[in-house]
Amino acid sequence: MTDKPHIQTQIVQAEIGSDPAFGAVAPPLYTSSTYLWPSVEEKGPYDYGRTANPNRAGLSKALSILEGGSSTVITSSGMSAIDLCLNLIKADDLIIAPHDCYGGTHRLLTHRAAQGRVRVLFIDQSDPEALHEALDEKPAMVLIETPSNPLMRLVDISKIAKLSKACGAIVVADNTFLSPVRQQPLSLGCDIVVHSTTKYLNGHSDVVGGAVIAKSAEHGETLAWWANCAGVTGSPFDAWQTLRGLRTLSARMDIQESNAEAIAKYLKKHKAVTKVYYPGLRSDPGYKLMKAQQSGPGAMLSFELETPALAAKALNSIEIFQLAASLGGVESLICQPSTMTHRGMAESARLEAGITDNLLRLSVGMETENDLIKALDKALS
Ligand SMILES: *Cc1c(COP(=O)(O)O)cnc(C)c1O
Repeated sequence: MTDKPHIQTQIVQAEIGSDPAFGAVAPPLYTSSTYLWPSVEEKGPYDYGRTANPNRAGLSKALSILEGGSSTVITSSGMSAIDLCLNLIKADDLIIAPHDCYGGTHRLLTHRAAQGRVRVLFIDQSDPEALHEALDEKPAMVLIETPSNPLMRLVDISKIAKLSKACGAIVVADNTFLSPVRQQPLSLGCDIVVHSTTKYLNGHSDVVGGAVIAKSAEHGETLAWWANCAGVTGSPFDAWQTLRGLRTLSARMDIQESNAEAIAKYLKKHKAVTKVYYPGLRSDPGYKLMKAQQSGPGAMLSFELETPALAAKALNSIEIFQLAASLGGVESLICQPSTMTHRGMAESARLEAGITDNLLRLSVGMETENDLIKALDKALS
């Protein structure tokens, strides 16, 4: 009976029944910006809300357990989480990032580089030659993002982490698209995991937030120091809400993934659909790697229709699926990456990456499989 409970039990139980004041079962929300000092000589566990807050601390503990890290910093957004990581390297150090990373990450790194804050090299990390050439440049940080958005391409985390660490780089993985219930980058050799908690971790499309989970205590301390120094920590309410969402992450992912698998199979057989991008399909080029490094394919997928006109018609007429960017909530979303999430990319770069107007992306939610497939069937007829 001394064994620690299963991770799922720990997440459901996180902060439950821990209220010292009134014995509240659900964790209270602490919005106070400042905390009493027991005396002028000693400070309590909390003194100022930017530095530390009980709600952020509770969420942080839960995320460290889920990702297998030593500590977690809760930030105001996924972007501030990624920007916070840049404090681990020096000015003029080189970052290697995926050419098909999240658009906001691409913009942040490009403009930080233009400022002279860092140097950045965007490469196709699935190309061994490109990776070797880039690593020869002695990067200080390597950013991995898999599966990629929107084409769901996978890269081998263990392999890239091992090669990158051999040349002294800090390896950061953006695990937003799968969440720790499907992929655990720290166990595959990465040093840091970042999340947009806006997506699966909160899971209800009602918070914008981020998290940085460090494997080593040393990285964790540096990140917490900078988060306080620069003031990028998240709000108590967002942390409170996100911990509430996190308790059902595993159950949500099971249902959403099962719906996504059914939809991928349905789309694969549809005559108006020319291509389906989903690593859960046996025919997908990422299937083998998915089986090796993920515990399931997740609930994001993309597909191409015969013509842009057909794609536009489907977008404008589809029921149930909401026409919106973002992902990972309980409700299903549909978007056209070329005009919505990836609009900021130069057209040439977009086409080179394979993002045409025929391409649609789905974030599959928790509605019933039957209703989702019926909605697609009607929109594609
Ligand atoms: C959404 C997203 C981000 C940015 O997160 P925000 O919470 O919107 O700031 C970063 N990476 C990935 C993969 C994302 O999907």
